[in-house]
Amino acid sequence: MVVKDAELPYLRRCVELAARALEVGDEPFGSVLVGAGGTVLAEDHNRVASGDRTRHPEFELARWSAARLTPEERAAATVYTSGEHCPMCAAAHAWVGLGRIVYVASSEQLSSWLAELGVPAPPVRTLPINGVAPGVQVEGPVPELAEEVRALHHRFHRGER
Ligand SMILES: [Zn+2]
Repeated sequence: MVVKDAELPYLRRCVELAARALEVGDEPFGSVLVGAGGTVLAEDHNRVASGDRTRHPEFELARWSAARLTPEERAAATVYTSGEHCPMCAAAHAWVGLGRIVYVASSEQLSSWLAELGVPAPPVRTLPINGVAPGVQVEGPVPELAEEVRALHHRFHRGER
């Protein structure tokens, strides 16, 4: 399955949430959880500026879905996200049994952008989602929106808000 035009609004919302995170001093990542019928169930952006560096939106959505959705609803849901899940979030996604993932920018793209900016490597190894959660259906990157996400990361790491 590939990313359909009808899915682009969810991905655009992820980019808006990433921009919102940047405005409030957080790293620019945003994610949206969509149910089988296309309804947005929950959304969040990165909140690591709180000091808790596990506050990634994909992790929050995994825990939200575990608390509120049935296993069947979780399996039928899709998580849209501005950046590919990190290993922590990929593991959480798989442990709670969520369905498909669609990301705008891959972890590989993000790593190369951060390297260009001289940002030190993160403390957790960068891996593709399927390297952590082999059974999850994953789509991305989405070139139509990747440049916007790259620009947000450049602004964050240059201290621009
Ligand atoms: Zn993460």
